[in-house]
Amino acid sequence: MGTELNTTPAKDWKGYNGRPFLIAGPCSAETEEQVMETAKQLSEIKEVSIFRAGIWKPRTRPNSFEGVGTEGLKWLRDVKRETGLMVCTEVANEKHVYEALKYGIDMLWIGARTSVNPFTVQEISDALNGVDIMVLVKNPVSPDLELWIGAIERIAKAGITRLGAVHRGFSTFEKTIYRNQPNWQLPIELRRRIPDIPIICDPSHISGAREYLYEISQKAMDLNFDGLMLESHINPEKALSDAAQQLTPNDLKELLSRLILRSPVASDPKLLDILGELRQQIDVFDDHLLDILEKRMKIAETIGQYKKENNITILQTTRWDEIIKKVLVKGQTKGLSPEMIDIIFKAIHQESINHQMKIMNNGISTRKKKN
Ligand code: PEP
Ligand code: MN
Repeated sequence: MGTELNTTPAKDWKGYNGRPFLIAGPCSAETEEQVMETAKQLSEIKEVSIFRAGIWKPRTRPNSFEGVGTEGLKWLRDVKRETGLMVCTEVANEKHVYEALKYGIDMLWIGARTSVNPFTVQEISDALNGVDIMVLVKNPVSPDLELWIGAIERIAKAGITRLGAVHRGFSTFEKTIYRNQPNWQLPIELRRRIPDIPIICDPSHISGAREYLYEISQKAMDLNFDGLMLESHINPEKALSDAAQQLTPNDLKELLSRLILRSPVASDPKLLDILGELRQQIDVFDDHLLDILEKRMKIAETIGQYKKENNITILQTTRWDEIIKKVLVKGQTKGLSPEMIDIIFKAIHQESINHQMKIMNNGISTRKKKN
């Protein structure tokens, strides 16, 4: 199902001159000098179209640096005048919107701690009604695609057409190498649901550390994202927020020079032929997979019949444990990642249970899950 929204494709946005549409600047505006010096250095990098800096900072814990407030908007206005770069900042309530509009900010972004809250997003949307400005909606902190789409729809309802999404990763309780889990399938599904919406990846907030910025940026380009938002600071170690993930403008330039940009569509007829043939083979294997799954479910149903006749519970934990251990080991010998095996077999197991439930309940289908 697609979501019908009137969004302008990235190529028609002011300042877009090919992938990646680049937004760069410090996590936070700290001083007038830091903002201007960073902006001057960034304006010399041809890929940079928009300068970012947070003025109002949503910090996880109190007593951290919470931004310089409205004062910083003057510095952004000066950046625009002196460097010609467009400027953007984060807004988290209607007052922020009115202040940013007063200072001629070109683009606003709605942060991950705001897009999670429909009341606040609606308040921002009301403040933006009828205004012609670029707006980016970051994904909510939780991996909830509907909530992300809902926030985008609310902003679209204000008449904003230069509307984009920022993928900045998702919070998890477990510690992983990245600060926020990318869960790439969510932005990919967002692209399927809203095909025209520009999607910008924010490797800084996904990684939380400089060392992973390149691999995440490259992956986003390989997935055909439209742009990147990267935090850059003239003196990252001394940054008042997100020090570990910011790059000097020089290091940003170096990262960009290493990015490999592949074309989303092939035009060489010989290559198209080869791809066409390989895709046909993939289609054949997909059909095989479906046939095999169908057969597997039939057997599960027969087992269900026996369980029913002999009054045995559907879930047999030891048997399931045996299966998952076996397929994980086997999968590894075939070069299949344990993460994928785990997801696929859990889904297959759940489907088998559903089929057996039907048998147990005399073929009456179980209640459909409500949203
Ligand atoms: C930011 O861009 O500095 C920021 C606070 O981002 P997020 O909302 O993604 O955490
Ligand atoms: Mn930040």
